[in-house]
Amino acid sequence: MIPAARPMIGAEERAAVDRVMATGMLAQGPEVAAFETEFSAVVGDRSCVAVNSGTSALLLGLLAAGIGPGDEVIVPSFTFAATANAVVLAGAEPVFVDIEPAHLCIDPDAVLAAITPRTAAVMPVHLYGHPAAMDRLAAIADRHGLAVIEDAAQAHLATWAGRPVGTFGQVAAFSFYPTKNMTSGEGGMVVCADEDTARRVRLLRNQGMERRYHNEVVGYNVRMTDLHAAIGRVQLRRLAGWTATRQRNAGHLSAALAEVPGVGVPAVADRAEHVWHQYTIRVSDRDTVADGLAAAGVGSGVYYPTPVHELPSYGLSIDLPETRRACAEVLSLPVHPALSEGDLAHIGAAVAKVMGS
Ligand SMILES: *Cc1c(COP(=O)(O)O)cnc(C)c1O
Repeated sequence: MIPAARPMIGAEERAAVDRVMATGMLAQGPEVAAFETEFSAVVGDRSCVAVNSGTSALLLGLLAAGIGPGDEVIVPSFTFAATANAVVLAGAEPVFVDIEPAHLCIDPDAVLAAITPRTAAVMPVHLYGHPAAMDRLAAIADRHGLAVIEDAAQAHLATWAGRPVGTFGQVAAFSFYPTKNMTSGEGGMVVCADEDTARRVRLLRNQGMERRYHNEVVGYNVRMTDLHAAIGRVQLRRLAGWTATRQRNAGHLSAALAEVPGVGVPAVADRAEHVWHQYTIRVSDRDTVADGLAAAGVGSGVYYPTPVHELPSYGLSIDLPETRRACAEVLSLPVHPALSEGDLAHIGAAVAKVMGS
């Protein structure tokens, strides 16, 4: 079976963990500090604060941007629930809007239509590794005085108009969950536009303390450990190579699938550099196609079958037609860097066969 995702963990990651174990200092320390400095180099030298998950990164980013009770935050509904959950955990209200069908990211016109006097922020998600339309979104946010909080959990190294994602918002959040484009085991990074915001995130990460037992605010313990940071540092060094491989793999798949009737291949916007966290096709009879692929030894995944606003945790009954259609049609094929050329040819042939061509 060709798996839908596969974390790439090698001898270097194991050696890095062993090195930290040997020091006996396991909690947040010099490895975390080095990881933050090194990650900052891929996000335009912005201040970075490492935390224990992408969800924590979103939550602390929102809180540090001053988002809280009484505020509305405009979010897409076609995303992982963590995007909206972070807004609720910050005490604010997510306002769900529709996506652009071509790239499946938040629709700037829908954002514009959803702005109220209570809107404090817009939270674009760079879904599947494809950047949201950041020039239009930034212009809208600017004109209406909104903070931009980027959910870049799936989009390490993606760019829009040549500029890295994570450098458009007041804050941005990355995730290092095992299936993301790079991992630290679990982990996240808050990328901050200014040092005041970064300092607030650092306080919230560690019980409100910068100096020990001098707690300035009420904070969390969402620190990253040095064990996780050591893994993340190795992975970060390999990320550019893996990203190039993902891009090449996506090119092979699109070439193989372009002429297959009934398959919508993923489009890339002119100004976007896509990093292919997922390679996601659209098909009308999605579950049958997934079953046929499984029978042919090809794993696949559905991200996401249900609009976030319709999950039991939200239970809202608004209609977002493009979101509803995407939820019914999307199917993600393996695109990860562990695939061989033979795997890619097999995936292409299996999709063609299941589609009856
Ligand atoms: C993975 C993910 C998150 C959350 O990251 P965790 O590290 O799992 O907490 C948030 N938003 C999106 C879009 C994600 O894919």
